[in-house]
Amino acid sequence: MSTTHIPVTILTGFLGSGKTTLLKRILSEQHGHRIAVIENEFGEEGVDNDLLLQERDEQIVEMNNGCICCTVRGDLIRILGDLQQRRSKGDIAFDRVIIETTGMADPGPVAQTFFVDDDIADSYLLDAIITVVDAKHAPQQLVERREAQEQVGFADRILMSKVDLVTEEEHTALKSRLRQMNPRAPIRPVHFGNAPIDEILDIRGFNLNAILEIDPEFLDSDEHEHDDSIQSFVFRSNRAFDPGKLEDFLSGLVQVYGPDLLRYKGVLFMKGSDRQTVFQGVHMMMGADLGRRWQPGEKPSNKMVFIGRNLPKDMFIKGLEQCLA
Ligand SMILES: [Zn+2]
Repeated sequence: MSTTHIPVTILTGFLGSGKTTLLKRILSEQHGHRIAVIENEFGEEGVDNDLLLQERDEQIVEMNNGCICCTVRGDLIRILGDLQQRRSKGDIAFDRVIIETTGMADPGPVAQTFFVDDDIADSYLLDAIITVVDAKHAPQQLVERREAQEQVGFADRILMSKVDLVTEEEHTALKSRLRQMNPRAPIRPVHFGNAPIDEILDIRGFNLNAILEIDPEFLDSDEHEHDDSIQSFVFRSNRAFDPGKLEDFLSGLVQVYGPDLLRYKGVLFMKGSDRQTVFQGVHMMMGADLGRRWQPGEKPSNKMVFIGRNLPKDMFIKGLEQCLA
């Protein structure tokens, strides 16, 4: 029952982006949420909070399902399980969890932990990945650090810090670059950790809901393309998909390109169905479900976004077109 699941937010960010400042701010605000923080920040300044748990050793467990490209975080499973136990005994009270990951971490394995471990999936619900980007240093960090690019690609929301340290032109150029990498994550400025709490919580980024917002400037953008390895593209069509063909194509795609697919989502028009089909995934873990009915007067159509590393866009698009009925 999703009402009893504890929502979890993964907070990630570039080194020095002000992620910890943001977290401190969230914890000190009077917003009525009781938040447990799990920190995985090695050797950086920690957050002073009595619900904070610090974890130092990493543990790898073998899995039977899920992604072959990710290893489930054994340390995270243990901490989350422990928190849940103490909560149900009444030792501690919290109704949300924020996981702050180190600036070097790939969010993939952290995210996948919530889908692969049954006990975790019974108690917790991954809400969203929030990425804090440092406006001043991002252009350099995006060049030098593969993790920085991945954190952008994974994000459901991007919070941009230190905007006051760059010119308007630099700010606009960076936004355009981030949008090319990830058109589905809204970009919001954050000033000294000051971000409205509803920009961070209850984003429902991993739900199979029909919400697929693509930044309208993504397609209009006529600026030069950056040669970032993380790129995205959108597929649209007003023609219905042949369900069998599409399923075959997508499962093959995920087998081959799963490790390089960070996030993908689609709201689909299937032949023979009066309801939307929604699918989404992280790496090789893909989920799909029937969504709402197409409304009277609404023109059924397909909209899909893929975000990944060096994806063969033309091959994806061609393959998808061949799945149309
Ligand atoms: Zn993976």
